[in-house]
Amino acid sequence: MIEVFSVGGYEAVGRNCTAVAYGNEVVIFDLGFNMERVVALGDEENVNIQQMPVSELRQMDAIPDDSMLRDRRKDVVAIVSNHGHLDHIGAIPKLAGNYNCPIVATPYTIELIDNLSRDSKPRLKNQLLVMNPGETIDISKNLSLEFVHTTHSIPHTVFSVLHTPDGAVMYANDYKLDNFPQLGEKPDYKRLRQLGREGIHALIIETVRIEQEKKTPSESVARALLEDVLIGREHESALFVTTFASHIERVNSILEVAREMGRKPVMLGRSMHRYSTLAEKLGIIKFPDNLEIYGRGKTISSFLEKAKKNMGKYLFLCTGHQGEPGSTLTRLANGDFPYIINPGDEFVFSSSVIPSPINQDNHYRLSSKLKNQGGRIFSDVHTSGHASKEDHRDLLMMLRPEHVVPCHGGLRKLAAYAELCSEMNMLNEYTNHEYFLGQNVHLLHNGQVQEIE
Ligand SMILES: [Zn+2]
Repeated sequence: MIEVFSVGGYEAVGRNCTAVAYGNEVVIFDLGFNMERVVALGDEENVNIQQMPVSELRQMDAIPDDSMLRDRRKDVVAIVSNHGHLDHIGAIPKLAGNYNCPIVATPYTIELIDNLSRDSKPRLKNQLLVMNPGETIDISKNLSLEFVHTTHSIPHTVFSVLHTPDGAVMYANDYKLDNFPQLGEKPDYKRLRQLGREGIHALIIETVRIEQEKKTPSESVARALLEDVLIGREHESALFVTTFASHIERVNSILEVAREMGRKPVMLGRSMHRYSTLAEKLGIIKFPDNLEIYGRGKTISSFLEKAKKNMGKYLFLCTGHQGEPGSTLTRLANGDFPYIINPGDEFVFSSSVIPSPINQDNHYRLSSKLKNQGGRIFSDVHTSGHASKEDHRDLLMMLRPEHVVPCHGGLRKLAAYAELCSEMNMLNEYTNHEYFLGQNVHLLHNGQVQEIE
C-alpha cells in the first residue's frame, strides 16, 4: 500500500512538501519556503533566513511543519526536488538534517541547493546526488526513482516518477507544457505517453494556474512580447528590464533582444548575478562577450557613475520585478545610486505581480516612485511558467492516472483540479478511468495521510 503525506503546500501556494511511503520506505518531495513570509522579512537573498532557528521559522509558517514525519524519520530514503525554486528547495538546508538520506535532483537544482546551504547554520550534511532527466536509479530495496524532462520557468525541471511494487507515483510540481521553448527541449511527451500506457497509479500534481481556462502561452510568446515592446521603437533613453533571476530562459531572450537592439547588456543585482553565473557554469546559457555583471551595490554605483552620460547605449537587466525593498530597481527609484531617473526612461517588467498583499504593496510603491520621476512602465511582458487548465487536461490524457492528489494551492485551486477530473469523465475513452471525489480524487489539508490502495 502507498501512503501520501500532505506535509505542506495544500492550503496555499508555497511551502511545498509531500512524502510518499511504500511500507517502511519513505521519499520526501520538496522542502520549500512560504515565499510570502520570506518577502515579509525583506530578505531577497535568504541569507538571514538560513541562519534563523527552525522553531522560529516554523512558528512563522515560513517552512513546512514536518513534525508529522517524526516517527518515520529513519524510514526516509531520499529527499527529491523537481526544480530549484525556493518554494520547493528553500527549507532543505534547515530541515534535511532531520533525515539521514541523500538529496536527489538535476544538476542546476543541486547547484542551487548547495549554494543556499553555504549560508545555513548548521551546515547541510546530506549527500547531494545529481541525476539527469531520462535516468532512473534504485533508491532503496523496493523503490526506484525516474526523472522525466519537462518545461517550467527555471532550467532542469523534471517530473519525478517513483516506481514501487504497487505501481508508479508521479510527482508533477511545477510544470508547463511548452512546445516552443527558447532554451532546451520541449517536454518528453514520448516517455509521458509510455508511462500512461504502463500505468500511473497516483499523480500528485500542482494547481497554481488551474483556474485559467486556457493553455499557458509558450516562452516563444514572451520572446515575441519583448521584441514587440523593444524592437522597432525609437529609443534613446535609459532602459531597465526586470525579470525573475532564476528564469534563465527569459534572461537569455532579454540578452538576445539587447543584441538585436544594438545595446550593450549589463546585469545588475546579486540574485541576477548568482543564478546566471551558476547557469553559465553548467553550460545552460552562453553569455554574450560584451555582457557586464555587477552584483553588489558598490559595484553597481561605480558602473552607473561611469555610464550615466551614455545611458542610451545599454540595456540594464536587473532585480526588482516584485518591488522587493533591497532590489536594484527599488534602490534606483529611491535615489540610492548615482544615476537620477530622467523623464522618459523605460522600465520593462518581464514578470507578473505575485498576487499577495505584500508583493502588491511593494510593486505599487515601486511603480509610483518610477512614475513620479517621469518613468514609463511596460508591465506584464510575460507568460507564466505554470500549466493552465487545458495543459492539465492534456497531461491527464497522456498519463491516465488511477488516483489524483492535487497539491500546491489552497482548497479553491485543489477543488478546481477535482472539477477538471470530473469533467474528464466525459472523456474517459482517453483516460480509461472515471474520477470520483473521495474515491480516487483526494483533496487534502496540510498534515493528512492518504492511503492509496
Ligand atoms: Zn516552480
